[in-house]
Amino acid sequence: MMMLEPEYMEVVKRHQQEFPIRVGALARELGIEVKTTDMPDNVSGSLSRSSDNPERWVIRVNRRHSKNRQRFTVAHEIAHFLLHRNQIGRGVTDDTFYRSNLSDSREREANRLAADILMPWSLIRRATEEGARSADDLAEAFGVSTAAMHIRLGLPT
Ligand SMILES: [Zn+2]
Repeated sequence: MMMLEPEYMEVVKRHQQEFPIRVGALARELGIEVKTTDMPDNVSGSLSRSSDNPERWVIRVNRRHSKNRQRFTVAHEIAHFLLHRNQIGRGVTDDTFYRSNLSDSREREANRLAADILMPWSLIRRATEEGARSADDLAEAFGVSTAAMHIRLGLPT
C-alpha cells in the first residue's frame, strides 16, 4: 500500500481483517460522512468539505449506480481523502471514468489505493485457500466488479 500517515494506515488495516471490506464503516472511522444521493448519471461521486464545518469531509455517491460501483467509488473517494485532501481545495467530483479536475496521475493513484483498500492481497490469498476458484468468485466475495478484480489480478478485462 502507498505511504499513508501511520494513524490512517492503522485504521485501514483494521478494516482489512475480513472480506468484503466495509468501506462505509472505514470512511466513518476516518471521520468522513457518506451520503448516497441523486447525482447526474455521468458522475460517480465526490469528496468535499462539509458546508457547515470545513474541517469535516463528506463523500457523496451516486445512488443509481450498482452496489459494487458505489463501493469502488467510496474507496476511490477515501483514497482522495488519504492522499490528496490538502491539494483539492473544497473538494473533487469524479465522473464515471474517475476523471476530475485533478491530474490523471492523481486519479491513477486514487484508483490504485482504492484497489489496495478493497482487494488486499492477504485476503485474496485467504479467499483462494478457502475455495474461490475464479476471478468471478473473488469479485463476488469482495463485492467488486469482475472488471475490477481482473485488473487487480492482471487478467485481461
Ligand atoms: Zn478521482
